[in-house]
This record gives sequence, C-alpha cells and structure tokens, in this order.
Amino acid sequence: MNGARSWLETANGHADFPLQNLPYGVFSHGGAAPRVGVAIGDSILDLPALLARGLLYGLAADAVAAMAGGTLNAFFAMGQGPRLALRQQLQELLEETSQQRARVECCLLDSADCSLHMPARVGDYTDFYVGIEHAKNVGALFRPDNPLLPNYKFVPIGYHGRASTLRASGHPVPRPRGQSLPAGQGEPTLAATARLDFELELGVWIGPGNALGEPLPIGRAGEHVAGYCLLNDWSARDIQAWEYQPLGPFLSKSFITSISPWVVTPEALAPFRCAQPSRPHGDPQPLPYLWDEHDQARGALAIDLQVWISTAHMRSVGLPAERLSQSSTLAMYWTVAQLLAHHSSNGCQLQPGDLFGSGTLSGAQPGQYGSLLEMTQGGKVALQLASGEARRFLEDGDEIILRGRCHREGYASIGFGECRGRVQGLGERA
Ligand code: MN
Repeated sequence: MNGARSWLETANGHADFPLQNLPYGVFSHGGAAPRVGVAIGDSILDLPALLARGLLYGLAADAVAAMAGGTLNAFFAMGQGPRLALRQQLQELLEETSQQRARVECCLLDSADCSLHMPARVGDYTDFYVGIEHAKNVGALFRPDNPLLPNYKFVPIGYHGRASTLRASGHPVPRPRGQSLPAGQGEPTLAATARLDFELELGVWIGPGNALGEPLPIGRAGEHVAGYCLLNDWSARDIQAWEYQPLGPFLSKSFITSISPWVVTPEALAPFRCAQPSRPHGDPQPLPYLWDEHDQARGALAIDLQVWISTAHMRSVGLPAERLSQSSTLAMYWTVAQLLAHHSSNGCQLQPGDLFGSGTLSGAQPGQYGSLLEMTQGGKVALQLASGEARRFLEDGDEIILRGRCHREGYASIGFGECRGRVQGLGERA
C-alpha cells in the first residue's frame, strides 16, 4: 500500500490527502445536511452515498451506518476493527486497479465546493502541557534559573478546557474581552485583550473510552485513540496572567479553540510512529502506571508542524502568508498513551468524541516556537515580518494557519490539512 496509486489523479502525490491517508470529516454541500466524508486528493468522498450504492459490506458498512447522524461519535465508539475494515475497503475502491471507478466517482465532490464542520460532538476537552521546550521557554520568562516546576517530569500536566467553544478551521476568532491588571496599576479593568496569542498543538480524538472508576492500563490505552488533528489554543495572555493562580487558565482560553476538521487515523499515522525521545540523563523514571516498553519503543509521533501568518496588510497588497515557525510532535515529553493512562488513572471517564490538546509544541531554538509568547519573550521583543510589519501579539485581521505533515523515506507523505483562524476585532462583529 505504501506505493499504491489512485485512479483519482489529484490524490497521487497530494501533500495532505493521498490514498495512504483517508481522514474522516463532516462536510456539507449545496445546502444539504452535514454528512461524513473522506478527504482524497482535491475531493471528498461522500460515505453515506457510497453505502447507499452498495459499495461497502460487513464491518465497513456497519461503520458508515454509525455515521448516519452526520457526526463521528458512534464511529469513534466502535474502536479499531470497523475502522480498519472501512480503511481497507476504501483503499481498494480508490486504488488504480479498482473495478468500481465509475460507481465511486459518482460519490466524489470537489472539496472547494464543500464546507467543513466539527467532526464530532465533543463532550469534554482537556488541554495538556506536555511540550517540554514550551514549558521551559515559558518557565524561563518567570524563573530563569528553574524553568520547570518540580512536578513536570512526574505527572502529565493538564487542565479541563471548554468543549462548547471548539470550532472547525475557518471560524472567525473574536477578540475576547476580559479582566486583567494593566502594568503598574493597582486595580484590574475589563477590556479587549491586548495580548492575543496562538498555541500550536496536536489534538487527540478519543475512541471507546472507559467506564467511571475503571482506569485504562497504559498497554491498552492506544486502542482508545480514534484519531488526530491540529489544534490552536488561542490564548489571551493578559487575562491569563491575572486569573491563572491558583486554579489555572479559565476565560483566557475558553473564548475559542480551533481545530483542523479532518480526523487523521492511527492507521494512517502508523508509519510515522517512533521511539519516544529518550529522557535526559537524571530524569526520573515514571511511575509504573505510565510506563510500557512497547509504548516507549513505538508510542511517539514524528509529525512536522508549521505556523504561518497572513495579516490584513499582507492580503491587501497580495503578499503570501509568512512562515513563523517549524516544530514537531517529538517535543512531547509524554506519549499520547501516557496521557490517556494518566487522565483515566483516578477513574475519570473518557468518552467517544472527547478531545485532548497536547499543549504547545515548541522546539528549543528561535524559529521553532509554538506561540508568540515565546517568539517575543512575553511581548518584550517585537517580531519583524517580511511585510515590514511588527508583532508582539496578534492584531485584528491577522490570520494564523497551522499545518502538519509526515514524511518518511519509502512512504507516501501525508498531512492534516489546515487549521486556520482570523482575528476579528470587537467592532467587526455583526
Ligand atoms: Mn494550550
């Protein structure tokens, strides 16, 4: 399958969606109700239409039947078996050698004519903080000698985020109002945030999950991952600085969180799994419930990540977006399986369609930072753009685009598509 080609020409060599990817999403077309499709090249394959034509059978047909409501929750709940069966049948139907080309072609729509939506109903959203270079970079702004807090290498840090304000890529990002303490002032004010930032993160969709009181053992945790996306945890740093002690982020994060709408499956990412980068000498051995040899050997992900910016000025003079940063999911100090094992370790129930954020994924060097907070040292140093503009934090009209791609010698490259959001000023709202 590594070198397999499709009869659909735009799929072959596609930067994000070749035959080897086949991510799931929810789309609408021409005023019809949202339904589940698969991204392939520049097209979307309409799965209910494929089922109606009798082109799927067995577990794969069951899987698509479970998508009938135009959401992926019930499909996520089914776990790996039906997902594998569907993937295999879709690959056969789309491969060059398929005898069904004419019948499948009738179920393809041009992506450019479709709108994408949230792929599942999110019951709970949890944001972690496992990008260790980000934790060090941000910690160093406040504690130059001791950037990491003492718990960091023992426990995957996280907080409960807000599911109701998750939105698919493309949704406007309204600049939030909030309470903050202006520098040098004794009392807070309520005002539009002046320190709006982005956070480059990996999103993890939860599959079957666990019953309350029954933790997921780390050796089985991977079975409960339904897929992955990109996630932008928009953050208002002035609101955050005033509110975060002692219970952590609250309104500085809950105004909107953007995700890329395609769910990239664990099967598509399998060639890009690798050993967890070894812990630096002297780091503590994790407690047994977080430790699994196979997970250490194969549980990390090598996904190249990028952040791009397009300002209103750049668009008005026809300049293309500018790349701000390049990073990788290898910056995660804990594997995804460790996050599931930890989250459920107290008996907390994880459910199909829950979403995790990894935390900001930065590298250690300039050019690898996953937030403006790091790029501008907390707003102290302006970032110079090629357009001649400067940024400390985001301005109205700024658009942030996250991209993720996987490359490996001998394998087709795959990608996540975009996670895009444009900042909307208070005065621009209808
Ligand atoms: Mn975050």
